[in-house]
Amino acid sequence: MKNILTILLSLVSVAVFGQFDKYFENRTMRVDYYHAGDSKNDYYYIDEVIAEPYWGGSLVNLIDDTNFGKYLVKVLDKASGTLIYSRSYSTLFGEWQTVDEARTVQKSFSESVVFPYPKAEVTVVFCTKAFETGKYVEKYRYDINPADVCLIKHDNRNKFPVYEVHKGGDANRKVDIVIVPDGYTASQMSLFKKDCEKFKNEFFKYEPYTSHKDDFNIHAVLAPSQESGVDEPCKGVWKNTIVSCSYWSLGSERYLMTTDNKTLRDVAANAPYDQIYILVNSTKYGGGGIFNWYCTGVNSNKMAGKIIVHEFGHGFAGLGDEYVGGSEYNDFYNLKLEPADPNVTTLVDFDSKWKDMVEQGTPVPTPETSEYNDKVGVYEGAGYLRKGLYRPMQDCLMNHFGCDAFCPVCQRAIVKMIEFYCK
Ligand SMILES: [Zn+2]
Repeated sequence: MKNILTILLSLVSVAVFGQFDKYFENRTMRVDYYHAGDSKNDYYYIDEVIAEPYWGGSLVNLIDDTNFGKYLVKVLDKASGTLIYSRSYSTLFGEWQTVDEARTVQKSFSESVVFPYPKAEVTVVFCTKAFETGKYVEKYRYDINPADVCLIKHDNRNKFPVYEVHKGGDANRKVDIVIVPDGYTASQMSLFKKDCEKFKNEFFKYEPYTSHKDDFNIHAVLAPSQESGVDEPCKGVWKNTIVSCSYWSLGSERYLMTTDNKTLRDVAANAPYDQIYILVNSTKYGGGGIFNWYCTGVNSNKMAGKIIVHEFGHGFAGLGDEYVGGSEYNDFYNLKLEPADPNVTTLVDFDSKWKDMVEQGTPVPTPETSEYNDKVGVYEGAGYLRKGLYRPMQDCLMNHFGCDAFCPVCQRAIVKMIEFYCK
């Protein structure tokens, strides 16, 4: 019986791997585009198509059905119309659409999608989630012929050596994090390597990462900046750094992000990656993380370790913030719908969330009393709002840094995502 099962299982995996081999080569195609619009509208404009050397993603899980992101890219085999790859993601442009400026100003942001390198002609379909329905709507489609030698660039811009921080195994069966430095000069590359070791130790201190250490690879790209430090616009501090991170993104002092998407992607492409983490050489508290986009954090603030895992929770597992206030966003969540974030609920469709983890007898919503201190429940106040959004526990690393652990709901979501990449 066991033998028959083994044969059956290997046939299944041959069939699934065959799917990858049928359509793709084990390297990356990157499509850069400009995402433009205002608070209500968005448009996609193609920039360039680039061949990159590595593919860090799964060879089996090619379709992303999480719906966590505000956007979805679908890759169709052009001849048959078959969906052969998809990925859900959010972007800084998408967040900018929710700040006051976007009500009166139109802006464009550079963005990229990556997918395994197609063997035959494909159609790339860009979709945006509609605020009113929570459903993805097709916005633009673009055909790419991989044999078009004039279209696809092979420049290897921004080539740098790579330092191996942590090796779990084969890139196609692990979660691959690439650490990109910002604000480290050439003479500070040894400091950057030390900070990457610190990053690794801090990252694996928290569950569920501790018990999934072997499911990760971490590479660091040794890409120096011209100047040390990072931009602090409100203080008149401007530094010439490789990926141009800056505090005060979207009007929030601690929000440390970059709009130089193209350089960031060039630098990241030096290693196989599923997730980009920018490590910024600064002592000032700050960071950021956007689902399947990129995360940032500083190297030498006393909260550096907790910033890493909190932001990675956004970037990797699509977790929402469990705190109240502290943002410039308007209508970040539609309270009439169940949000996609696995750790935030409006109770519109709680069955799809962590209802199975709430002990019988726990009141919903759950009062914030000591009786329920360590209990999974439904606590009002999350996603920047005091009313209408609920979180799973009173304390969690997605809420505040006074606590030292992710709540069980966040942990489950992280493990699910690890399994997605490691298959
Ligand atoms: Zn949580």
